[in-house]
Amino acid sequence: MRHVYTPVIGLEIHVQLATESKLFCPCSTDYIGAEPNTNVCPVCLGLPGALPTLNARAVELAVRAAMGLSCEIHDGTIFHRKHYFYADLPKAYQVSQYDRPLADRGELYISGDGGSPKRIGITRLHLEEDAGKLVHSAADGRLEGARESYADFNRGGVPLAEIVSDPDIGSPREAREYVSALRRLVRYLGVSDGDMDRGSMRVDANVSVVKSNADTGEILYRGDRAEIKNMNSLRSVERALEYEIRRQRATLESGGTLERETRHWNDGEGVTTSMRSKEAALDYRCLPDPDLGPIEVSREMLDAIRSSLPEMPWEREARFIGDYSLSEVDAAVLVETPALADYYERCVRSGASPLRASNWVRTEVLRVLNERGVGIEECPVRPEELGLLVSMLDEGRASTTVAKEIFGLMVDRGLSLQEATDRCGAHGGLSQEDLELAAKSVLDANPDVLAEIMGGRDLKGKKRKFICGLVMKETRGRATPGAVEDVIARFLEGME
Ligand SMILES: [Zn+2]
Repeated sequence: MRHVYTPVIGLEIHVQLATESKLFCPCSTDYIGAEPNTNVCPVCLGLPGALPTLNARAVELAVRAAMGLSCEIHDGTIFHRKHYFYADLPKAYQVSQYDRPLADRGELYISGDGGSPKRIGITRLHLEEDAGKLVHSAADGRLEGARESYADFNRGGVPLAEIVSDPDIGSPREAREYVSALRRLVRYLGVSDGDMDRGSMRVDANVSVVKSNADTGEILYRGDRAEIKNMNSLRSVERALEYEIRRQRATLESGGTLERETRHWNDGEGVTTSMRSKEAALDYRCLPDPDLGPIEVSREMLDAIRSSLPEMPWEREARFIGDYSLSEVDAAVLVETPALADYYERCVRSGASPLRASNWVRTEVLRVLNERGVGIEECPVRPEELGLLVSMLDEGRASTTVAKEIFGLMVDRGLSLQEATDRCGAHGGLSQEDLELAAKSVLDANPDVLAEIMGGRDLKGKKRKFICGLVMKETRGRATPGAVEDVIARFLEGME
């Protein structure tokens, strides 16, 4: 009997909500780089008698995310206390939502493995608070040689939305697509910065493998799922799942069984290792939090949030394909962040042709941003100026070589378009005289081709084009195609 092994993947993603203050107290959410234990108060330290107050902005952002995911949003859901003891959790419980989440039954479309859009169900979205952070001696130079661990509670109480997907994801590539689509959505909605390397989006994956009969499709074995933790980039999500599916499959092929467990992804070694098995699973003793009332989500609040939603990324992508005739791949690159999509549209609105503007933004602009490690907000060339530069190309007023030189001056020297063009000359310092000299030397060097053109043996104009190409080369790409054609036409006329 031949067997097939099918992966089943569901993702749980913690998204840090972009609020100024924590979920239940006025402390700042700024925990990266802040002096340890400076953004803390009796509430987030869990001191006796301190009472939490729900941050309305966090609820609003969670509702925005839920709307972007087409979830059903519920009024009056409650918070639970999830009990466990760990040194980064001073209250010995985390405030989360248990059996009644703020929102559920949503969906997100991704580009599926078959090439067409695929629906991934959203099981639930709920609000919870983050835990603090432990700093182990080796992680901090000042603590070298020390054998202690230190607790920093600056992150404790920071608001998170936990978004759980249905097990609809069929491959590591689809998992990566899903994380990327969710990140794009939360950025569009202003819900989170979505930075995975800063921990603003943390991905856990549940993965199992189903073994079935290749001929009949009958399911022979359904492996228990493993939960994979510590994947800090899109690439590591994909690699960890590839490794884990291979591992589970190999176990089944060799007659072994799979048990429910939590595994840790080691990015350096490219393997997952077991952290704890089912037997060690915790009983959290979830209880309703008596200090917090139900979350109010009124009809008016929903209407107000709905009317403030921006154009969704997939809507913008479809519009770019429809209005600007861009390919799906190019449109997807340009709508990756709202700021990049805005940059492109401002470039087009200032007169650039949509296709050429797309090429310039995707290649020249993104290259500069990559080299400098900055976002589009810090691009040294304003979109309106890039639009004008691209229209110089559109109208044949500059060659590609010269346009790139002008762009280079704007980037490297911070010149305006006008200053850079003056410095270069629209024709890159190439005078009419230089162009005529170049044309003459090409014609002199190719008497056979010239004779064929003059003898009427260039019916399709291919030889004329060949000559123009040589002239362009002679000017090292500085002349525009139009100017070259003009000068050749004049020479040929003069010879008749
Ligand atoms: Zn606090």
